[in-house]
Amino acid sequence: MLYAQIHLTLPAWVHDAVDTTTTYPGDEAKVGLAIELSARNIDLATGGPFGAVVFDGDDRIVSVGTNRVVPHTCSVAHAEMMAYMTAQQRLQRFRLNEDGSRFVLATSSQPCCQCYGATVWAGIDELLIGARSEDVEELTPFDEGPLPTDWIGELERRGIAVRRDILRDRAREVLRRYGESGVAY
Ligand SMILES: [Zn+2]
Repeated sequence: MLYAQIHLTLPAWVHDAVDTTTTYPGDEAKVGLAIELSARNIDLATGGPFGAVVFDGDDRIVSVGTNRVVPHTCSVAHAEMMAYMTAQQRLQRFRLNEDGSRFVLATSSQPCCQCYGATVWAGIDELLIGARSEDVEELTPFDEGPLPTDWIGELERRGIAVRRDILRDRAREVLRRYGESGVAY
């Protein structure tokens, strides 16, 4: 049988965990929320140890994402992809900032090669990162894949500012907890 449709969901708990009426000024508040989602995702066994959030120019949440690879048997269902896709559906634009407004992606860990590629096209202006990919590979079994040598420069040349090591230790702690648990979800 040929499948002609894909249905991906975020865990039901995101509606209780995320307050869309509040603002998250500053890099640490934004990445802090992404890390909180990554922690809750493993605590509740709803996916891997990654979280991401798209914010608008007023520091408000547009969308969130958590890793959903194992629950959905879908290798593309990374936190950043889920956040981009749900933001694009909500705003009905495949390039979020095509109307001239600004968007930020905050992610608990540096995007893998897939999410890096998606970041080029998603229509964001800033990328805020918690843990580095070497943290992911040190503390979990995941392969982050190959990136261009000058991956930050490639994004910046496309108008996307990159800041990293934001609450890195807190992000590493979630990765460590997941890696030491030995489970895969
Ligand atoms: Zn990814």
